[in-house]
Amino acid sequence: MFYDVLRCAHCGEAIGVYEPLVVVTDVLSRESSIASDPAVRDIHGEHYHRGCYETACDVALERSDARNADNRSPSCQ
Ligand SMILES: [Zn+2]
Repeated sequence: MFYDVLRCAHCGEAIGVYEPLVVVTDVLSRESSIASDPAVRDIHGEHYHRGCYETACDVALERSDARNADNRSPSCQ
């Protein structure tokens, strides 16, 4: 059977089973991969390639510098 492809919340590309990923929820961010921890795909949250997560946080921090602190992403602390 087919599983839903896990897609990166930053770039929209599929995240491979063996690729390092970061999952972000309201309460945590966690680095893992589907291969080492299949349960991560079922965590309700945003999934990122590890590299994309770092990029997304850089962007978020740049934006928050230009705006007020309320827009700071909670996932990038
Ligand atoms: Zn990505």
